[in-house]
Amino acid sequence: MERYALVFRGHRFGYEVQAIAKLFLPGVRFLLCEDGQPEPEAEYCLLTQITPTGDALTLLCRAVLPEGARESVQTQPTALSGNALEKALCTQLYLLLREMTGYTPPWGMLTGIRPVRMITQAVQQGCTPEAACARMREEYLVSEEKLRLALETARVQLPILPHAQEEIGLYVSIPFCPTRCSYCSFVSHSMDSARALIPAYVEKLCEELAVLGNIIRERGLIVQSVYIGGGTPTSLTALQLRQVMEAVAEHIPLTHAREYTVEAGRADTITREKLSVIRQMGATRISVNPQTLQDSVLEVIGRRHTAQQAVRAYETAREMGFDDINMDLIAGLPTDTFEGFADTLSRVMALSPDSITVHTLTRKRAADLYTAQGLTGVQEVSAMAKLAADRLPQAGWRPYYLYRQKNTIGNLENVGYARPGKENLYNILIMDETQTILAAGCAASTKVVKNGQITRVMNYKFPYEYIGRFDQLMEKKQEILRALDAGGRSAGEDRT
Ligand code: SF4
Repeated sequence: MERYALVFRGHRFGYEVQAIAKLFLPGVRFLLCEDGQPEPEAEYCLLTQITPTGDALTLLCRAVLPEGARESVQTQPTALSGNALEKALCTQLYLLLREMTGYTPPWGMLTGIRPVRMITQAVQQGCTPEAACARMREEYLVSEEKLRLALETARVQLPILPHAQEEIGLYVSIPFCPTRCSYCSFVSHSMDSARALIPAYVEKLCEELAVLGNIIRERGLIVQSVYIGGGTPTSLTALQLRQVMEAVAEHIPLTHAREYTVEAGRADTITREKLSVIRQMGATRISVNPQTLQDSVLEVIGRRHTAQQAVRAYETAREMGFDDINMDLIAGLPTDTFEGFADTLSRVMALSPDSITVHTLTRKRAADLYTAQGLTGVQEVSAMAKLAADRLPQAGWRPYYLYRQKNTIGNLENVGYARPGKENLYNILIMDETQTILAAGCAASTKVVKNGQITRVMNYKFPYEYIGRFDQLMEKKQEILRALDAGGRSAGEDRT
């Protein structure tokens, strides 16, 4: 791999400068060099430097890249400091790299993961959506294409977002999958390695649901949405799935629940018997996630099912009466092409699910591929995301939630598109970060939102810890109670 040095002189904006550099140099690992350190030997180099010169500051950005060498110098008033100075330096570097590489990142300089919140929050503070978009365009250089997407999403969300403080969501984690997909970045355990733990896991999960049920009742909370996710919840047997869903029904007050989702996920785990349990136990929405309908890609990513099986699982669910089905797709899977993605999208649209979620592969898992392909790979994945954003709204699926994960290819987005009325409240509110979510199970994270402050309480990450240290975990529930009663700890604990 080529070696790139990232040299910072006279400032402490290394994190932000690196985020900008990564937009243009996907998959590159930088050698970092701060003040006082000698410059590392590297083939390519990005230098950012701030030097006080008399009554001004000189900002220098110098890039030595495969495309050539170039630098940009600007002066700024000495009064400029903090965020404004960081912004000036990052903008200067961004413009230099954009010019040198010929690549324009679709989200411009925006590196945050919730761009839609910039609009919804501005509206809640009395601004118009258009004015919020203008700021994103001018200050962050966001493209018209992404502004349109964010604006459409915000418009769908705005009437759905308001909720009372006592209204909450419940998340139940089943962190098992039949096999581990090659790109997986979740905490998930293959059935082969975890099978023996599952009965004990289910037992403990049901116990935790009973504890959460008590908290909900004692504090007068109202459950608006339930989401059983993973992993792949349908990795459990039908009997185990029933056990979990019976615990939900027994312990959690669902009178006011507006939706109840079970992520059925992978086609190789979906059976008529499990679907029947899901329906009988009151779930209103399932997710059948092919990710791609290209058999060769499914094989490469390690999912042991065919496209046909995914289609059959979807059709079975429809026959059984499910009237709210989501399908997940991923743009940028290894070996997939634009044509392959377009074909998958057309075939999924022809099935007419109620919602379609289009993710972008996280770069962590695609490092080799995108280091090799560089910006060409990024641009192809960008084109896939754009195709979905163009075709789905035209066909009646509106974007209703949108978020960006760190390390996604091209810093692109994940977008949920839904038929009107089929928007998933849980997905919207978890991204908006304004609703308390109580979470049960391994690697689950409870989030208490009160008076604008957020407290997170994490469960243990691995099933053996969750089972073995369950009593300690239940003691941690006191933290949830304290947060619910006291209104959260310092907002600084939550970096969004
Ligand atoms: S189905 Fe999802 S959670 Fe399970 S291994 Fe694959 S990507 Fe990970």
